[in-house]
Amino acid sequence: MAFQLKILGSNSAIPAYGRNHSAQILIVNGSHYLIDCGEGTQLQIAKYKGKLHKIDNIFISHLHGDHYLGLLGLISSMHLQSRTKDLNIYGPVGLQEIITVQLKYSQTVLNYKVNLTELDANEHIKIHEDRNVTVHSFPLDHRINCNGFFIKEKEKPLRLIKEKLPEEISLSQIADLKKGMDVVDENGEVIYRNAEMTLPPKRSRSLAYCSDTKYDPDIVKYIAGADLLYHESTFLHENEYWAERTYHSTTKQAASIAKEAKVGKLLLGHFSARYKDLTPFQSEAQEIFKNSFLATEGQTYEVEDGLTQQ
Ligand SMILES: [Zn+2]
Ligand SMILES: [Zn+2]
Repeated sequence: MAFQLKILGSNSAIPAYGRNHSAQILIVNGSHYLIDCGEGTQLQIAKYKGKLHKIDNIFISHLHGDHYLGLLGLISSMHLQSRTKDLNIYGPVGLQEIITVQLKYSQTVLNYKVNLTELDANEHIKIHEDRNVTVHSFPLDHRINCNGFFIKEKEKPLRLIKEKLPEEISLSQIADLKKGMDVVDENGEVIYRNAEMTLPPKRSRSLAYCSDTKYDPDIVKYIAGADLLYHESTFLHENEYWAERTYHSTTKQAASIAKEAKVGKLLLGHFSARYKDLTPFQSEAQEIFKNSFLATEGQTYEVEDGLTQQ
């Protein structure tokens, strides 16, 4: 089963040097989750061969334009493509009003239902659950209300040791084994012992998304152990003063968070338009956290399925 993060945009404030505003798609077992939706996101989706109709859940971190100005265009295109299934959107207080006003004055009545959940920016809570994942939001430290997101695969079934399964075992008995139960006969006698026929489940993979935030060690507890951490790194280390003043982070601050949280891989993004060459971002971060990379548009970052639960 796939767990892939595709970057659609990773620039801050103003698009620059071919870099677009924040947006990324996480694909888990065929479900597509859109995280932030900066201006031009639908064009980026088309450019990288994505499919709008596959997106059923959208998560918006905050209401600075570089994170959501593409949302209305995307909603409109879904409407024009005759979408009928519901669309879930999770975002800050105020997003409902923004969408309503824009649809009102274009006299648009969507073909489909938008289920919009406005988030409390101060809480760490579960906001979404489906057959593949659970999603928690958590507070970031930015100039306006801003949420991070932690998306984690649901717990998986036990793995069967195929060589140990007798030929006569039924499908319902196999289902019981996968759930962790022993198989018993009509008298309650154990026929197949779970511990002898199963291995621990594959681990549940996770993505932590920290869009815009100043350096904030409080984040660590919300994202601990994530396989992938996308953390903004608007500035290089030499501009730490500006990062502090504008509620953003530097390379080394993002890397420190990754190190403290013991994540698998750090993806740096939300680059300031003042930088053309991004090479120093990666090298500075790697001084603190070796597994640091640039979030590059069009690139897909995959977490393998092969590891078992610790
Ligand atoms: Zn931003
Ligand atoms: Zn912002």
